[in-house]
Amino acid sequence: MEREVKLAAAPGYSFPTDLLYEDLTCLHNQLKELTTAEKLRIRAGYWDTPSLAVAQAGYSLRSRFMNDELVLTLKGPAPEAQLPEAVAEELSNRAVVTSSFSGLWLRQEYEAVLSTGSAGELVPPTEAELALLALPARLERWLNQLLPDLALHGQADFTRLVRLAAYEDLQVELALDKGQLLGLWGAEQIDELELELKNGPADKLNRLAADLLRTHPEWRPGTKSKAGRIAELNSSDVLIIGGGAAGLMAAQELLQDTAVSRIVLLEKTPCIAHKLLATGNGRANLSNRDLSLCHYHQVEPLPDWLETVLTPDHLHRPFEIFDRLGLALRAEDGRLYPYSMKSQTVSRLLQESLLNSRIKVVTGERVQGLLPYRGNADSHGWLVNGSQATYLARQVIWASGGQSGAGSYPDTAAYTSLTALGHHLTPLWPGLTPLCSPDVPEYMAGERVRGTLTLSACQSASPLRQSEGEVLFTAYGLSGICTMDLSFYCGKLLQEQRQPLLRLNVCPEYTEAQLYDHICQRRQRLPQAAAETALWGLLSEKLAVLVLSQALPELAQKLSPAANSPKLTHKSRRIKAKKTRRPELISRCGLTLQDLSRRQIQQIARQAFSLTFSISGDRGFEQSQITCGGIPSTEVKPQTLESVLAPHCYITGELLDISGDTGGYNLQMAFSTGCLAAAAARAALRARANEDKHEHDQT
Ligand SMILES: Cc1cc2nc3c(=O)[nH]c(=O)nc-3n(C[C@H](O)[C@H](O)[C@H](O)COP(=O)(O)OP(=O)(O)OC[C@H]3O[C@@H](n4cnc5c(N)ncnc54)[C@H](O)[C@@H]3O)c2cc1C
Repeated sequence: MEREVKLAAAPGYSFPTDLLYEDLTCLHNQLKELTTAEKLRIRAGYWDTPSLAVAQAGYSLRSRFMNDELVLTLKGPAPEAQLPEAVAEELSNRAVVTSSFSGLWLRQEYEAVLSTGSAGELVPPTEAELALLALPARLERWLNQLLPDLALHGQADFTRLVRLAAYEDLQVELALDKGQLLGLWGAEQIDELELELKNGPADKLNRLAADLLRTHPEWRPGTKSKAGRIAELNSSDVLIIGGGAAGLMAAQELLQDTAVSRIVLLEKTPCIAHKLLATGNGRANLSNRDLSLCHYHQVEPLPDWLETVLTPDHLHRPFEIFDRLGLALRAEDGRLYPYSMKSQTVSRLLQESLLNSRIKVVTGERVQGLLPYRGNADSHGWLVNGSQATYLARQVIWASGGQSGAGSYPDTAAYTSLTALGHHLTPLWPGLTPLCSPDVPEYMAGERVRGTLTLSACQSASPLRQSEGEVLFTAYGLSGICTMDLSFYCGKLLQEQRQPLLRLNVCPEYTEAQLYDHICQRRQRLPQAAAETALWGLLSEKLAVLVLSQALPELAQKLSPAANSPKLTHKSRRIKAKKTRRPELISRCGLTLQDLSRRQIQQIARQAFSLTFSISGDRGFEQSQITCGGIPSTEVKPQTLESVLAPHCYITGELLDISGDTGGYNLQMAFSTGCLAAAAARAALRARANEDKHEHDQT
């Protein structure tokens, strides 16, 4: 077991290089020199697999040239390390002693000299070299399995001044290290003093270290091992999963803060911002002038949640960023679009802004999972497993969207990963999607009507939701903006095994009495006209038939035309050399207007206000614009969007169980939540830096 105390230099202070050459009383007046100081040049390489299997198990594997001697060392486990089952079992009988104060290190150490001679290239250890460490059998087997994947994860290059000293009945090796650590994101200084126990009682080492810290205010406990610091060097400040609306806006927000330097964005497709291209029929309806919160829907409504997330400032923030990017906007019926009316303009600007920025964008990298990183006792964060590599990150922003959209390769990695961390997942269903109804006759396919659509749970239930606008009849049911806006609640009813019913008022500007009069006047003028024409002048021919067939169900059979024989035919006639088409009506039900009773006219007039369609389902995620449901908003702090279960992990955009209406509300939600999470991640990094500083000031 290696027992040592690390002492680090406080910011702005550097251990004097001749510290160990001088009279040792400068360290502590009772410390007696046993050997003279020796100077070593050390070059070390730290080995791990792409998925950081060694560090994840709490170990560090190092080979180092010390002057010309090559030494292989395996250290571990740190007290709170998570071990693979086999290794954990091997070590379960050993007591792992926790440190009595920070800076004290207790590690299992296995070491072997591999060669002597001249220093050469750092290469991963071989099986034969591992055997020299005399490891417990299972530990050795486990490491042997990792050998083919081992790669250099970081290096340390430093000089060590080392000497042996005595303190009462204690023998300690004093080592002053000065040099550099090299990791993926750059380099960091090594300036530390190590006191390794060689002989004597361990508690005295603690006392000596405590004394030294008390008498040297510019020294502080070294709570980070070199391997741990390399892990931090390899770790990004913020890692964003998903290069869609939320992820790209989070990236923009982070770019505003130069203090956040290491930002990684992982996107599984070959190109970021690809989904934006498809939005708004290629025009990208980015937002809306009316951003009232009634346009958003939560699976389990939570008072004040939306108000906290979508404050006026948070709603406005993405547009400050767009403004900075030079994106001009225009409004059409309250909907905001890029001025060019092309979604490509937005995606190009977002892509362009990341080129040559300090954000490292990795495309074609599908994130498969996320684990808390506890490889070393002193480093913490998230281990993000991608399809190509594993990434370490202090803060993670999930922005991987939902399941919707054609060709968007639905991905459940976020759901699986977040539920593994303790999150729940509400039922998911397609939103902003056409709906299927057995009550829409085939002949209606392609018809459009403006009206009011009301949703209720069953025939007798009171209305749940209403929407106004265009309804499109299709071969399978209903579509159009008006229908799509009710799809959240329709889907919710279907999830609850309740029968959704839509009622369509096709003459919202009229009263029943006015419709009644309209039909009566037609009957007076054209008593022989077919009953199907009762609502001509107000409604399209097909819609008039649909109203009649629902109003007089006893005639419905006759009214529904056979597939290839439309009820309304046209006969061509040549009038003044012009080809004109005049409708010639064949009444399928055999009734004329004069045959209609007062009661039947009343029924027809009433039905125009309440065409009824039972909803049997939707058109699936492929044809939907959004995914309803997701990670419950109750499990995310509304001020920051940080998970309440997984600290420093933020959940944004369509992953959450919030759905917006058509009209730009969903992109707005994705943009705003991306900004909010990124701002919170920035604040958390700053808070951590301040904590470190405060800790230092206190020591
Ligand atoms: C056809 C269509 C038109 C639409 N039109 C509009 C509109 O005009 N206005 C509007 O407001 N809303 C519109 N929407 C909805 C809107 O696009 C979404 O609500 C919004 O894009 C959600 O943003 P997001 O960032 O949460 O997810 P997305 O935009 O879906 O982005 C998620 C990104 O993460 C990536 N990803 C997924 N899983 C992983 C993984 N495991 N690892 C790495 N990367 C991953 C995806 O490839 C994607 O690039 C439309 C949707 C569709 C399908």
